[in-house]
Amino acid sequence: MRKQTICVQGGWEPRKGEPRVVPIYQSTTFKYETSEQMADLFDLKASGYFYTRLQNPTNDAVAAKICALEGGVAAMLTSSGQAANFYALLNICSAGDHFVSSSSLYGGTYNLFAVTMKKLGIEVTFIDVDASEEDIAKAFRPNTKALFGEAIANPAMTVLDIEKFARVAHSQGVPLIVDNTFPTPLNCSPFEWGADIVTHSTSKYMDGHATAVGGAIVDSGNFDWMKYGDKFPGLTTPDDSYHGLVYAETFGKGAYITKATAQLMRDLGSIQSPQNAFLLNIGLETLHLRMERHCSNALKVAQFLKDHPRVAWVRYPALKGDKYYDLAQKYMPRGTCGVLTFGLKGGRDESIGFIDSLKFVSIVTHVADARSSVLHPASHTHRQLTDQQLAQAGVAPDLIRLSVGIEDADDILDDLRQALSR
Ligand SMILES: *Cc1c(COP(=O)(O)O)cnc(C)c1O
Repeated sequence: MRKQTICVQGGWEPRKGEPRVVPIYQSTTFKYETSEQMADLFDLKASGYFYTRLQNPTNDAVAAKICALEGGVAAMLTSSGQAANFYALLNICSAGDHFVSSSSLYGGTYNLFAVTMKKLGIEVTFIDVDASEEDIAKAFRPNTKALFGEAIANPAMTVLDIEKFARVAHSQGVPLIVDNTFPTPLNCSPFEWGADIVTHSTSKYMDGHATAVGGAIVDSGNFDWMKYGDKFPGLTTPDDSYHGLVYAETFGKGAYITKATAQLMRDLGSIQSPQNAFLLNIGLETLHLRMERHCSNALKVAQFLKDHPRVAWVRYPALKGDKYYDLAQKYMPRGTCGVLTFGLKGGRDESIGFIDSLKFVSIVTHVADARSSVLHPASHTHRQLTDQQLAQAGVAPDLIRLSVGIEDADDILDDLRQALSR
């Protein structure tokens, strides 16, 4: 099936007399007939459901759809995008380990990496998203376990050179993890360019209606853990909590997601609720239609802003002349996403005055849902960062983040026009 069909039909194949729509298995637990059946599940000898903290049929159907959209071999849902990025790294990093990340990141991810993971003894080195291969490689240490970047960074709107990042990661014997939240698998396929693991905040375009916080991790199955066995002992040496099972030997290409489920989800428990997975699935059914409209509306808005005399600058990678236009054409030829950033002549105060004058384009922390919305990161999501950290994260003090929705483009332009005139 092509991606547009997978959006609608993927992940759930009902048989005779079964529900056409993925049902919500709103059950914490699942029944067995013999003690041995249950014991096999706990030994990972048989696969099946026993407790929703580990796996649930609704979640698995939706994860399978996302897996198919990304072209991966295995996937899992998490309670949030934060949990997805945390697990993606924690699955292969322990205290004393290190990873390298582009500094062009979502504010929550920046805090997770720079503050919380550091407290757990996992250190990060940030590199510029445009750094040369040599400079990225220089950030590696003997204990480096992963390279990380956002396909389109929120809100810096930088585009990751996925092939370049994958080359460096692989020459250092570690996987490349790409957060593909903004372009979605409809517009960008990181695995085709060498990424090994993809993460998502499904709270954004995938849900698309701002109803359910969630995340996902997808494994390409391409990274050879055994080849770098000493780097990834969690996958290549016996797990004491499963009677000495070795994930990479027992589960092959499914090792990474199996470990993240059987070990991290078991112990830390950031599962997505089946109710949210159901809502997410309804969102996924129209993802391909919505992304087209988000992209065409955002391009019109970007062009309008670029030509407006009160606008100082616009950042939209699908707009000709943008610094990342060529990379966007390469990795996202069908379009980028509905989010763009811009600044007003005059700076910070004008930007705040402008967003206060908007009518239906509303101020919310969220991005990437059907409704147009706006945010001033320096006053909101990124307010805990110093000016230097703001610059590192690509967030100018006057930066306005506009998430262009799927309303009529002319109404969006009218609202922007009237607010600019005030
Ligand atoms: C929102 C976002 C996250 C965090 O996701 P939540 O679902 O809010 O936890 C991670 N990465 C990117 C790129 C995001 O936009």
